[in-house]
Amino acid sequence: MPELPEVETTRRILEPYLLGQRIQKLRHQDPTRYRRTEWAEGRRVLATSRRGKYLLLQLDHNLEVVVHLGMTGGFRFEPHRHTRLTLTLPNQTLYYTDPRRFGRWWVVEAGDYREIGLLERMGPEPLSSDFTLASFEQALRCTKRKIKEVLLAQEAVAGVGNIYADESLWLSQIHPERPANTLLPSEIKRLYRAVREVLQQAVEAGGSTLSDASYRQPSGEPGYFQFHHQAYDRAGQPCKRKGCKGSIEKKVVGGRGTHFCPRCQRL
Ligand code: ZN
Repeated sequence: MPELPEVETTRRILEPYLLGQRIQKLRHQDPTRYRRTEWAEGRRVLATSRRGKYLLLQLDHNLEVVVHLGMTGGFRFEPHRHTRLTLTLPNQTLYYTDPRRFGRWWVVEAGDYREIGLLERMGPEPLSSDFTLASFEQALRCTKRKIKEVLLAQEAVAGVGNIYADESLWLSQIHPERPANTLLPSEIKRLYRAVREVLQQAVEAGGSTLSDASYRQPSGEPGYFQFHHQAYDRAGQPCKRKGCKGSIEKKVVGGRGTHFCPRCQRL
């Protein structure tokens, strides 16, 4: 599933093709998944941004396009067999592909996210100055839920999904099933730093392309952060932490396959 680094990589690559351009056509066959897209036709793109895992296009006439890539959504510069929507610009057509069709598009009045509940209650952006150690501590202190579930919920911090939750918890040596309110201040600080570090490095690497290859950059090129995974998708392999003789285990936490080292991330 595309998480913050994959969505941010996509945004950065698409931005030069979109900025200042008029959307000529936005065509698809599925008005329940891709809503009010006719509003965007003829509108000019003033800016692109991202909130958590949502890609946002600010248009003139106070409109906004909100895209959630779901499990397998992405953009391509070339026609692709899983194209669900085409966005025609004066000099480029963008193909929105989504084999499993969990992705969604909405065109809304700018900032009107009433249909998109998660966007309304989403926590701070982890790579911005809004995400502070104090706000993170506050969010963790008031819940007994497992720390992995808290990270996935997007309210303590935005944009972290299954891969980057496992990587951040491994880096900070915290067991994914620890109740959030039992984390010591020193552990919260380690996790806070780990979330930022892991996401920053993943953005720089163009995100993670897994063995199913569902995520790709719009050129078709993969991301490269999967080569830096320490825990995710490494079940049964030796822990990479210096001096640790454990091996990575996989177990379901909060409904998601979770990878961790039981030796250096103790419950
Ligand atoms: Zn270990």
